[in-house]
Amino acid sequence: MKNIDSIATVKVVEGVHELIPGVEAFRHQIHQHPETAFEEIITADLIAKKLVSFGLEVHQNIAKTGVVGVLRRGVGPSIAFRADMDALHIAETNTFDYISQVSGKMHACGHDGHSAMLMGAAQFLSTDQSLQGTLVFIFQPAEENEGGARVMMEEGLFSRFPVEAVYGLHNWPGLEVGQIAVTAGPLMAAFDTFELEIQGKGAHGAMPHDCVDPIYIAAQVINGWQSIASRNVNPYDAAVVSVTQIHAGDTWNVIPANCNLKGTTRSFSASVRDLIEEKMELIAKNICHGFGASVKWTYQRRYPALINSLVEAQIAKQAASAVVSLERVIQDPKPSMTAEDFAFMLEKKPGCYVWLGNGSSENGKNLHSSKYDFNDDILPIGISYWIELARKTLGAKSG
Ligand SMILES: [Zn+2]
Ligand SMILES: [Zn+2]
Repeated sequence: MKNIDSIATVKVVEGVHELIPGVEAFRHQIHQHPETAFEEIITADLIAKKLVSFGLEVHQNIAKTGVVGVLRRGVGPSIAFRADMDALHIAETNTFDYISQVSGKMHACGHDGHSAMLMGAAQFLSTDQSLQGTLVFIFQPAEENEGGARVMMEEGLFSRFPVEAVYGLHNWPGLEVGQIAVTAGPLMAAFDTFELEIQGKGAHGAMPHDCVDPIYIAAQVINGWQSIASRNVNPYDAAVVSVTQIHAGDTWNVIPANCNLKGTTRSFSASVRDLIEEKMELIAKNICHGFGASVKWTYQRRYPALINSLVEAQIAKQAASAVVSLERVIQDPKPSMTAEDFAFMLEKKPGCYVWLGNGSSENGKNLHSSKYDFNDDILPIGISYWIELARKTLGAKSG
């Protein structure tokens, strides 16, 4: 292999290296044909065909393009492994030969790599007769923004394929190749969006006494909202309120009638999430009404916080240690305020989501950058992690 050979402590499962050329080719094929939320048709068909060729029982069209492969090995626990398949609306600026062939879309979050690694693990485990139980391989659409995990569950994912626990992973730029971060408890934040339409009264820019200025009011509201994290939330809890859009006005000398604010909030605990929603509405409405404007307020709960369960986090840590050694397992990493829809699955099932080191995040190699690319060097590490996790959860001896 490439760089991971220099990491003495990385122990790729025997037999995985032989699969890598095929897995890498599959990853590049998906990378060239990125598909976004619920439109992962070519990707899903490719995955389904591969799973069938491995002898798995395959189910398609769950949440439109979702694919589930089932590997049954007699009586034993039933465990799910999940990968996401979708790309983003970003125009790729890389120059390698497998660059996106679809204008304005690219795999900028590495879900091509996630699908490829889970595919490699399914291929390897399909020939492993030592497992006892059932493995459910979930290939999920629409992780970005659209909550494909929730839709798969609404369409009966866990009633059709009952499992005791569910595991996921994400490549993580900024963590070294050969490092895996695992923790029990919160790892990624709850993600909500909001919109405030302030309806004032327009006037000539030179005659402010005739108006109810929605821009001035918007400024007061934005300042007021910033008091939530600093004056309402306990300093030991995390909370983010970010106004990311302000839309008002068309020219220099007219005070507009309306101003729209949009943005996002992040939190970990349910009580902080409730507090943010309640205070934002109170502050917005009272300030606007106080200045004589009317309002339309919308707050949408998007993704819950991603919270790993204790027992499954321990199992994930053991699997990670078996591959990268305990000293390269980052325990209790600082959580990220980014969000991940695997959190919906963890609301219903015990489980654990880990970050797999993808190497440097410098020079645009970060998630959602037009220069990002999944690091193929970590394919054998990710596949080995899934295999060790299967061995730990389905009772066979770790090899
Ligand atoms: Zn992403
Ligand atoms: Zn992602």
